[in-house]
Amino acid sequence: MCPETKWVTSAVVAVGEELLSGETTDTNGPWLGRKLALMGAPVVRRWVVGDDSEAIQAAVSEALAVADLVVVTGGLGPTSDDLTRPAVAEFLGLDLRADPQIVEELRTRFRARGFTESPESNLSQAVVPRGARVLKNSFGTAPGLLMEHEGHSIALLPGVPREMRGIFEEVLDQAIRDGFGDRLVPLVHRTLHTTGIAESLLGEQVGDVRAEIPPEVELAFLPGLRGVSIRISTRVRADRVQKSLDEAQAVLEPVLAPYRIGMETGDLLKAIAELLERGSLTLAIAESCTGGLISKRITDFPGSSTFFRGGVIAYADQVKTQLLGVDERVLAESGAVSETVAIQMARGVADRLNSDIGVGITGIAGPGGGTFEKPVGTVSFAVTEGARVRVSQKMFGGDREAVRERASQATLLLLYQMLADEN
Ligand code: ATP
Ligand code: MG
Repeated sequence: MCPETKWVTSAVVAVGEELLSGETTDTNGPWLGRKLALMGAPVVRRWVVGDDSEAIQAAVSEALAVADLVVVTGGLGPTSDDLTRPAVAEFLGLDLRADPQIVEELRTRFRARGFTESPESNLSQAVVPRGARVLKNSFGTAPGLLMEHEGHSIALLPGVPREMRGIFEEVLDQAIRDGFGDRLVPLVHRTLHTTGIAESLLGEQVGDVRAEIPPEVELAFLPGLRGVSIRISTRVRADRVQKSLDEAQAVLEPVLAPYRIGMETGDLLKAIAELLERGSLTLAIAESCTGGLISKRITDFPGSSTFFRGGVIAYADQVKTQLLGVDERVLAESGAVSETVAIQMARGVADRLNSDIGVGITGIAGPGGGTFEKPVGTVSFAVTEGARVRVSQKMFGGDREAVRERASQATLLLLYQMLADEN
């Protein structure tokens, strides 16, 4: 048992030269990370080592210093590079002996495939450290092993992901639950989505109320292209989880409120759709720099056909003038990226597609095309409804994809705000 904490902690050691050289990506570590976190034995550290006894022993030794449960994957097979079993047994001071039941099972398996004798190398898989519990492998030959050592548990699992997962789900999961009982307390998360505010500003505002948040609740800022999410997490007994998270959320809510509008799910579309449906309003969109991204997001929303009339990707100036009726003189004087052009695109598309509301967006996504006055990332976007107009021009950071994604989100936010204000 770890003296620092009563909650269970885990560590994972992935064994395999191919994991170090990059030929194979370690998928066992992340998979175990998710599983163990869910059951309340979160992984606190992970090692990747080659097929080398000393390295395996060093990693297991370090893992035992930080975790109650150590899971080692890989190197359990029948070949000479499979060293995990003898290395761990030696480190723990346990003798190896042939387990008669495994020998019998291996023989049966081989006979079933038509061999009269099992290859000697395969029988090496029947050799297990004294006192180890054998974990049945329904997907392959090398069984898993579970050992106890000075209050810690050490599980050895095969490297083949299918076999590792099979043994974990069929037997190890229950064995861990039986072994650690109510010391298994999962970390529970709740995510509060925001949009329209930069991570640094949000961080400062949240910092002002941080001290009022219950100490058992941790905060993480998760910035994305559509906004910044705040994840609140706690690891307390099941009956106190909701109370702790509710208290933390109640402290954060007044700070986050201006940026949480319509962001219950992290996507504005649901909120926009509700407002459009409530007002029986229809929508059409003219996109330049976003090339259809906004229309895609709208049509991703099931049921959008009730309000979405359609969109025009007006990339060339000619399309802006001929198809949408943008004034040629305005284009020449203000440039394609200007608030006036965005407004004319919005009005034009609403008129041509016969919708109540029009949206226009035009900008410089980069990497080329920027000027001193209008650097890469400059985007103008407008929402119109008859004579009503909302327009904005912003400078978005990041590469081409980031500019387009951020511009889409900002445009949808402007649309949401205009709709919310008339309700
Ligand atoms: P076997 O009985 O198949 O030899 P084993 O326990 O010895 O099982 P390894 O030899 O280490 O396992 O690996 C077998 C296969 O599983 C290899 O193809 C390897 O790339 C893959 N593998 C091993 N470890 C991992 C891992 N951590 N993540 C993903 N794949 C892995
Ligand atoms: Mg192997």
